[in-house]
Amino acid sequence: MEFTREWAEKRDAEDQLSGFREEFALPAGVIQLNGNSLGPLPRAVPGALDQVVRREWGEHLIRGWFEDGWWDAPERVGDRVGRLVGAAPGQTVVGESTSVQLFNALTAAARLRPERTVLVSDAGNFPTDRYLAVSVARMLGLRLVQTPVAALPKVLERHRGEVGAVLAGAVDFRTGELWDVAALTARVRDAGAVTVWDLSHAAGAVPLHLDEAGVDLAVGCGYKYLCGGPGAPAFLYAAARHHEALDLPVTGWHGHARPFEMADTFVPAPGIARARTGTPHLLSLLALEAALTPLEAAGVAAVREKSLRLGDYLMSLVDGAGTTTRTRERTGAWPEVVTPRAPARRGNQVTLRHPRAPRLSAELMARGVVTDARPPDLIRLCLNGLYVSYTDVFDAVTHLREVTR
Ligand SMILES: *Cc1c(COP(=O)(O)O)cnc(C)c1O
Repeated sequence: MEFTREWAEKRDAEDQLSGFREEFALPAGVIQLNGNSLGPLPRAVPGALDQVVRREWGEHLIRGWFEDGWWDAPERVGDRVGRLVGAAPGQTVVGESTSVQLFNALTAAARLRPERTVLVSDAGNFPTDRYLAVSVARMLGLRLVQTPVAALPKVLERHRGEVGAVLAGAVDFRTGELWDVAALTARVRDAGAVTVWDLSHAAGAVPLHLDEAGVDLAVGCGYKYLCGGPGAPAFLYAAARHHEALDLPVTGWHGHARPFEMADTFVPAPGIARARTGTPHLLSLLALEAALTPLEAAGVAAVREKSLRLGDYLMSLVDGAGTTTRTRERTGAWPEVVTPRAPARRGNQVTLRHPRAPRLSAELMARGVVTDARPPDLIRLCLNGLYVSYTDVFDAVTHLREVTR
């Protein structure tokens, strides 16, 4: 039953979220399973940007900073992103690339624990995060300990009293494994250290409760599940309890307590405004703002629920098609699922392993199925319930079966 296209079509017809697909400008014939790398274009964005460029910039010129709300945008958009990750207003700003936000957050985190000598970094994290951990440790004269997230409690135990800050990804970008952010944050706090969570593959994908979990700092991309477009600015969250002591290394004039005095010395603004830097990439920032509307309307919880069901469906199709000996013989190699099966242990992507992963991903792309490969042998399929349908999943697996043959 599940293995027929009719079954998938019926699920789509009953799906409460199916209408949200219309909010995205997805080209006909394209199955977008790559939203964890670059989210698709929300239909509201071109019009919003056109207004910003022609009317606000074109006609209002510099008045746009206050008449059109440009000045407040980093914190205004920050509060909207904050709501999506369980942060009360006044703790999140948007601006800069993920890399810069990471550098800023990680350095500030280490400076919150000046007496501690060890910086811990997630060994499975995205390359930028790992490179930056090395750089920050070197800059601050800290000893860097790289560890898989699963071994974090052990590492904290081994370096008892030494660890100042811990940088980890909430969802493994390769395998899609989701970590228990609340439980690990509690372990880090018990060790007297502070957390920096990279939420690039979690924000807008899985329900997060940063305030409730007692997270210290967090950052995340704007162009993945938040659909802000290529180069969309990233967000930085800092819990209110840390604001007064937060010593951020990127000290731009927008983060000054009295920016228009043009003073000789930097005095950080009260609250999260100190995490602002210089003039933000405003066009990208306002594109991101317009892009958030469909996700806010659907709600992260509902999107997550459907994304999990799409993941279950994909995995059952992959299992079902791969289990008969006849299929194996015919196909040579059939991919295996590497993402953990339990809903609490996976994000919204399913990763498959296949020896010819890069070739398969390229062949799928030629057929309009957008996925990506990660070396050496992984294919990632992002099942964002906001715009991916059951029929998309069925068709993607059909194509996969054909290209593996
Ligand atoms: C995508 C991603 C990045 C990318 O950083 P940019 O500065 O936006 O290129 C960094 N960290 C993680 C965990 C990511 O998933």
